[in-house]
Amino acid sequence: MEDTFSLSGVKVAMTPMARFEEFLRSRGKRITQQRRTILEQVFSHHEHFDAENLLAELAHEGKANGKVSRPTVYRTLGELVDAGLLRKMSLNNRSVYEHDYGYPQHDHLHCEKCNQLFEFQSNEVSSIRDNVARQRNFRVTGHRLIITGICGDCMKSKSPPSRRLEMV
Ligand SMILES: [Zn+2]
Ligand SMILES: [Zn+2]
Repeated sequence: MEDTFSLSGVKVAMTPMARFEEFLRSRGKRITQQRRTILEQVFSHHEHFDAENLLAELAHEGKANGKVSRPTVYRTLGELVDAGLLRKMSLNNRSVYEHDYGYPQHDHLHCEKCNQLFEFQSNEVSSIRDNVARQRNFRVTGHRLIITGICGDCMKSKSPPSRRLEMV
């Protein structure tokens, strides 16, 4: 699991844009240029991000032209979650988003020092989930598992300062 994003996508019937348009239509809304810009940016690469990361990306890429406001980003992220395109996780009072549509079910290790998320897939976790659900006559629609702790890099960087000086 060296690569943070080692999972490959799953086949989906519609493009995220088509699915979002359909969702908006069902709510009597239209896809605006701002919503389009946000969706394109979000689906240009798989990442774990929060609203502020996305705002910074939009500004950096010059796509926003100052036209995508902070409230619009927050509102659109909520719509993308409701449309089943994004998945939202709460980590240390921070809302973190990632692709759900077209991306396989997976779980996360969360480093509490550097805040990085590492993805993994485990058949054992899925089989525990299915067994527990079966005992309760429960229909599974998904699950979330976040393992918290300290990542390998952060543990390494814990070495005392005196040793680092010797190395210079
Ligand atoms: Zn870390
Ligand atoms: Zn993930």
